[in-house]
Amino acid sequence: MAMTEHSPLALHLSAPLAEALRRVAAQAYPQECCGLLAGAGEMHITVSDVVPTANIAENPRETFAIDPQAQFDLLRATRGSEKRVIGHYHSHPDGSAVPSPRDLDKAYDPEAIWVVVAVEGGMASAPRAFHHPAGSTDFVEVPVVS
Ligand SMILES: [Zn+2]
Repeated sequence: MAMTEHSPLALHLSAPLAEALRRVAAQAYPQECCGLLAGAGEMHITVSDVVPTANIAENPRETFAIDPQAQFDLLRATRGSEKRVIGHYHSHPDGSAVPSPRDLDKAYDPEAIWVVVAVEGGMASAPRAFHHPAGSTDFVEVPVVS
């Protein structure tokens, strides 16, 4: 993917939450893990919760699909609070921590933050974040700060 654009967004991900993401990604290896992210903020978005969900994809070694019921449950749980569902995460077993062409096909929500964790031989690296602005042809990386 081209990394020419700079996002106006920033994602605050605390060290313990980043570590939690690396742990679930490593545990799912060699399958892709996935889950939802709750948080708050408009331009500087702070992640408050990492919510692992089942990967219900038919081939979880190659892709991910978040259980719609889990999404519904989190939407309901955050309704009326300061928190909202800010996006989701998944892992790339033996891949890089950037969205794949398959991910681009699924990027229909310009509000969603995509967090990707690469797992190389079972070792997870630091999560990276992206979003797909409306009208854009590619993802734009969102800087992750702790
Ligand atoms: Zn992916």
